[in-house]
Amino acid sequence: MLQKKKGLASFFMATLIVTLIINIIIAWVVRSASKEIDYGTFLTMIQNKQIESVKIEANRLLITPKVNENSSASDKKIYYTGALNDPQLVERLHTAGVKFSTSVKDIQSPIVTFILSWILPFAMFYFLGSFIMKSLGKKMGGGGVMSFGKSNAKVYIEKKTGVTFNDVAGQEEAKESLNEIVDFLHKPSKYTDIGAKLPKGALLVGPPGTGKTLLAKAVAGEANVPFFSLSGSDFVEMFVGVGASRVRDLFQQAEKNAPCIVFIDEIDAIGKSRDSKLGGNDEREQTLNQLLAEMDGFDSSKAVVILAATNRPEILDKALLRPGRFDRRVIVDKPDLKGREEILKVHGKNVKLDSRVNLGEIALATAGAAGADLANMVNEAALRAVRMGRDVVRQDDLFEAVETIIAGKEKKDRIMTEEEKSLVAFHEVGHALAAALQKQTQPVHKITIIPRTMGALGYTMQMPEKEKFLVSKDELIEQIIVLLAGRAAEEVIFNKATTGASNDIERATGLARQMVTMYGMSNKFGMMGLESVQNRYLDGRPVQTCSTETSTEVDREVLQIINSCYEKAVSLLKDNREALCKISSHLLDKETIMGDEFMEILNSI
Ligand code: ADP
Ligand code: MG
Ligand code: ZN
Repeated sequence: MLQKKKGLASFFMATLIVTLIINIIIAWVVRSASKEIDYGTFLTMIQNKQIESVKIEANRLLITPKVNENSSASDKKIYYTGALNDPQLVERLHTAGVKFSTSVKDIQSPIVTFILSWILPFAMFYFLGSFIMKSLGKKMGGGGVMSFGKSNAKVYIEKKTGVTFNDVAGQEEAKESLNEIVDFLHKPSKYTDIGAKLPKGALLVGPPGTGKTLLAKAVAGEANVPFFSLSGSDFVEMFVGVGASRVRDLFQQAEKNAPCIVFIDEIDAIGKSRDSKLGGNDEREQTLNQLLAEMDGFDSSKAVVILAATNRPEILDKALLRPGRFDRRVIVDKPDLKGREEILKVHGKNVKLDSRVNLGEIALATAGAAGADLANMVNEAALRAVRMGRDVVRQDDLFEAVETIIAGKEKKDRIMTEEEKSLVAFHEVGHALAAALQKQTQPVHKITIIPRTMGALGYTMQMPEKEKFLVSKDELIEQIIVLLAGRAAEEVIFNKATTGASNDIERATGLARQMVTMYGMSNKFGMMGLESVQNRYLDGRPVQTCSTETSTEVDREVLQIINSCYEKAVSLLKDNREALCKISSHLLDKETIMGDEFMEILNSI
């Protein structure tokens, strides 16, 4: 508050100085444009008929001289002289034929002059200045330049979030755990009477886009209480101590508004473990300490529930996770098949769907997609329907949207040579045949050689018949064979290798490596774990836990799997050369063929 007063005073001073300077400048301009003469000179000028007109003001006379041919521009000055008490003045001017006048507004009282030249500009500058400062302050996200110590939590308070559990699909377990919190906010006494303490906080953990933020809003919506939401990064500021004071403010406001929900999104921004080796960050640590203190400080009977979300739970400070703080962990993982279908239904309600649309099929094709991806797909499909001039969204719009998100947009204008095109066709049919000829692979859904913006020159889309949670060793081997069959087809038909197989190779090698290091599927290492996954909810990158010698051995094992799979792929395609050629030429004609068409040709051979 001290800062605020100080700021106000200096702002007042600045305005005053500006007004002063402006008045001085005006006075200077006026003076340099006119010249004072004495009364005698004035009378002489009248007699010599050198005067064009005279303006009579309250205490001076403004004299405009006549312009004669030989006077230069600089002579066009206006003269003035003090007004003497000269009763004959009017008489003199009249006989000399000088125009003369006076105006009402010139005879001002000094008070009016003072107001006009001092108070008015001052007030104008003051309002202009404070307006600019206010809008600047808003842009900076704070409560104004002069009050950066204050919380901006106010900005984010939502009386009603308008989101309920019905808007969140496919997260039944998470909803169940949060239901208790909703009930508590409705009727705290039910719990406090029996002596039960409710968790002060719940931590929503899961990959990006699975609906953590949405769930927190839904809890507030269900409980019908105000929702204070802040992102972890909102606390982190340039000035040490600002974050801590924001935390303090936030909790003060929350207690005033109880029952309510305080939601800290992306809490890892401030909740990072304090024992990091890279040197501490004073501001962040102070903010975290304040948060810990506040969470201890308020008593849970007040019905303030703190929710937080993160996708990196492993880096959070242990102190945050101990009982009495965020002691409840709600996992919000990627949805399964049923969950995906439900999410599609929720978002499908917002668009006009054709009656033949089968959302279950779309859900099957989108394994691994999070809620945000699915919401995006429905919207992409609607956009495509509009582009096609339709007024309802059809199944093919939805499929195209899925492909757009997986592989990018179609690039029909890319010109490829006939040779390249046929190479791509054989490559893709190689994948498709390897998939169709093995027993435990997913059926082929679509083969296309229309290039996509994300680099693919063509692709084969497989679709599972049902969702599986476990994959066997045989299935993994078959998957690797399918991935390598693209290059195998190039080799079998054209006897050459191209760069087109790089993505296949990367994926096949990744699978083979996981078999050896994580799934215990190699003869050499058996059940030994050689890699562990970090950042499970983000990229899930594996980190080696074995020695370098073992790592060399691992590479050898992986190479062996890849090599034997590639040999199998080559022999599979050699045995089915006729089908490979026939389907490829059909694909070259049509550019895209669907799974059933593909199977028809294959079965007819
Ligand atoms: P997170 O916070 O987990 O990264 P969000 O809650 O911000 O993800 O989700 C982003 C958007 O994705 C939501 O606004 C919603 O439209 C959609 N979405 C995500 N998960 C779901 C879900 N389970 N049900 C319905 N919509 C979802
Ligand atoms: Mg979020
Ligand atoms: Zn390929």
